[in-house]
Amino acid sequence: MFYDQSKAAVLADLKTNRQTGLTSMNAQQRLTTTGKNELPVVPPTPIWLVFLRSFKEPLVIILLLAVTLSLVSGGYDLVQTGDVQHAWSSFYEAIAIMILILINSGLSVWQTANARKSLASLKAMNNHQVAVLRDDNWDKVAANLLVPGDIISVKTGDFIEADVRWLKVSELAVLEAHLTGESLPIDKQVEPVSADTDLGDRKNMGYSGSTVTNGNGYAVVVATGGQTELGKIAGLLKDTPTQLTPIEKTVNGLTRKLMLVAGGIVLFTLLAGTVKTWLTTGSFSFASFAALLSTAIALAVAAIPDALPAVLSIVLTIGATVLSKSNGLIKSLNSVETLGATTLIASDKTGTLTKNEMTVTRFFANGQDFEVEGRGYEPLGEIAPADQLGAAQAFITASILDNEATVAKNEQGSYVPFGNPTDVALVVLGQKAGFERAALLDQSGANDVDILRLFPFDSTRKMMSVVIKQGDQYKVITKGAPDVLLQHADYLAMADQLVPIATGRATFVSKIEAFAAEALRTLAVSERIITADEALHLPMADLEQHLTLLGLAGIIDPPREEVRHSVATLQAAAIKVVMITGDHAKTAQAIAAKLGMLDQTAPAAQVLEGREIDQLSDDELFARVPDVRVYARVSPAHKQRIVRQLQRQGEVVAMTGDGVNDAPALRVADIGVAMGINGTDVTKESADLILMDDKFTTIEHSVEAGRTIFTNIKNFMRHELTTNVAEVLSLLLGLLLITHDIGQVSSNTPTLTALMVLWVNMVSDALPSFALGYDVPEGDLMQVPPRDSQASILADGLLGRVLLRGTVMGAVVFVAFIWSANSGLSVEASQTVAFLTLVFGQLWHVFDARSSKTLFHRNPFSNSKLVMAVAFSAVSSLLVTMSPFFNDVMGTARLSNGVYAMVILLPAVPVLVISGIKAWWLAR
Ligand code: ATP
Repeated sequence: MFYDQSKAAVLADLKTNRQTGLTSMNAQQRLTTTGKNELPVVPPTPIWLVFLRSFKEPLVIILLLAVTLSLVSGGYDLVQTGDVQHAWSSFYEAIAIMILILINSGLSVWQTANARKSLASLKAMNNHQVAVLRDDNWDKVAANLLVPGDIISVKTGDFIEADVRWLKVSELAVLEAHLTGESLPIDKQVEPVSADTDLGDRKNMGYSGSTVTNGNGYAVVVATGGQTELGKIAGLLKDTPTQLTPIEKTVNGLTRKLMLVAGGIVLFTLLAGTVKTWLTTGSFSFASFAALLSTAIALAVAAIPDALPAVLSIVLTIGATVLSKSNGLIKSLNSVETLGATTLIASDKTGTLTKNEMTVTRFFANGQDFEVEGRGYEPLGEIAPADQLGAAQAFITASILDNEATVAKNEQGSYVPFGNPTDVALVVLGQKAGFERAALLDQSGANDVDILRLFPFDSTRKMMSVVIKQGDQYKVITKGAPDVLLQHADYLAMADQLVPIATGRATFVSKIEAFAAEALRTLAVSERIITADEALHLPMADLEQHLTLLGLAGIIDPPREEVRHSVATLQAAAIKVVMITGDHAKTAQAIAAKLGMLDQTAPAAQVLEGREIDQLSDDELFARVPDVRVYARVSPAHKQRIVRQLQRQGEVVAMTGDGVNDAPALRVADIGVAMGINGTDVTKESADLILMDDKFTTIEHSVEAGRTIFTNIKNFMRHELTTNVAEVLSLLLGLLLITHDIGQVSSNTPTLTALMVLWVNMVSDALPSFALGYDVPEGDLMQVPPRDSQASILADGLLGRVLLRGTVMGAVVFVAFIWSANSGLSVEASQTVAFLTLVFGQLWHVFDARSSKTLFHRNPFSNSKLVMAVAFSAVSSLLVTMSPFFNDVMGTARLSNGVYAMVILLPAVPVLVISGIKAWWLAR
């Protein structure tokens, strides 16, 4: 038990050092004994079981049935009729179907392995980092590498990644609802509590899975992984099942429906075939039934897009991986789809639209204006008027005392900021004026300032305060958004006089407006003298009252150069871009104007402030949101209301957020976007998309990638389904229209054998489909409006195209078959003609399927993977008709060169004609 002991005893117990932390070597050793800091998970289904399970699929069962029938028929021939050659061809057929079944199972295994791999790597990239002290050095370490004895530091918005004992806390409050059910944050302390204290009251402990909602603290890790309280109650965690995305659900639903259709077709075939045989021959034999059965099986196989589900999920996973390469980390495959349908992006300003490299360029202190030279973190630059700087001393020292940021010079000689960028700007201002926080706090120095309490900045309150002791005077220093601070102020410092706020307000407000109009971020600094007793005991809300305003800083935070272009691109793609910021309305409006986000005719009308939102009912807000482009001075609670009303307007909203309080809004948004660098753990956890580089442009790229992936999926679905329609139709036409023997072909002969159909579905068609999944976008996808997220993937004319092209293709295949039979070709040769006509029909068609217009509108060589896949399919399909071995196995036959030329070229005709008609029509 660590909570009833003193800090020193706990540290001794864990053999660690508060000042230097563990050594890396020691930490490594401990890791080997305790294991990783991860909750134990149920091991995933072994791959061999995934393989076996694929045999439960209805398609595979149908195929296994076909194998059995072939074996029975072969055995019958061998034993009863003695037709050895026919028997062997049946056996070959059984073997070939088995091989295709194995290919299908292989695809399932590949798909599962692929999904697991990409999930694991996404998980690894999303692994939280913890600030850990090791080898006397603070560093970020992956949470799963924590060991007991590690000294860690946490701040607002962090997850607590292990069970810890607090060593130092500053206004630290932690949410532990997952363990205790207590929905309010618990204030933490470092003093020991008695041994019989319940978990919820052990105020000097922090537990794995809790979130820090306020303040910061240092702690020593006491338990990790399965040893934590969470680990003990969680037991074995089920590995998160991979959820199906809407398209996958649509496709699986479609496949299931098609299986029913296949069943219906089989029954219909047997019935219609029997009737037909009876009418044409007046009798019915075993041989004719066997022929019918093989047509029925071929039809069943033809009706189901076998490879589609596997190809689809693999393409989606590949999409997520591609996205992560462009710095957009997608957390679920669902979002790949939603991204492409996004209609509105609501973005933070600071750090996302702007560079977050803040510099104070002007300030107003003690009633006087100052200009500051220099940009960036280097403490170089004059402050003018230099001879008046003394008057600004109170303002500048207060702004660096109420501040936790630092700027340090690294070995390369450049200045590296650490901490809140707004605070960094003030630190640099201090350095330019000759003040250092460390020197002010130095016990031996003349200043001798002590920080007694610290109330961190939060974006709801928009203030930050410290309570200090300077000599024997006690003070609270509060800095924050000027308009907010004004409401808490009694006086304004002007020329060393305290002017009542009623008198000074107008001056101060005009300064705020003037700074904001120059797109400067504004921040006011204030102080108040208090008693020793108040310093120690007054709650935060009472301390931050009756303040004296010392001055106002104007901070430049330049817009990111590339954002203007991104905004224009998104607007061209009919995606609205709005800014949601905690900053001042005027500053926000000025930045938005610079980025091209505002319609310049009435810019002010497009700005809505948080306090105005408070006055609006949901319905009133609903009416306003279509026109607003900038939401200013909003707090996180407003964000959720805004998203809801935007969604009511039919928008698919992607929204960014970086603070803890943004998490609920991110969850409500269709795509919650978190910042990878500056975001808190809590927002990353609630987000769907994480910007690894915090840049707005990454959202633009992700939306574009989402659109590309979706379009590619649509194209290959169109391609695959067209094949199925063509196959079913050519078989049905054969069954219904061939009523008497033609040449060597009997009226019972199916147009295509089951094996040929399987070959087309699994080999000659599947490979180009895969390649379509990697296709480059056609034209500029960002020049068209977003797709309707509610509409099915089959909507938008897709079904019509599939039916039209499939019907034409099926008819051509059937005609080719009849022509061959009429020309006196053998059964095998006629079926081979049909087979190759289908294969090449599809290979021509694939170039059409990748265009929303026609194949004339796209360079066929722009996707090299597709060209290779098509070449492979063409050559391998020709080879299976030329090799004697495959002739036996697949029931194909070698054709004459003239016929080969015909089956390669003829199927191009319908594709070219349909495309030609469409091109002509489009041209009109
Ligand atoms: P966005 O929401 O676009 O990131 P933001 O970062 O400007 O905007 P907040 O962080 O909520 O929004 O800041 C709102 C205001 O609070 C700022 O305009 C500034 O006046 C004040 N402020 C920001 N940071 C601090 C800080 N560290 N200490 C005191 N006041 C601050």
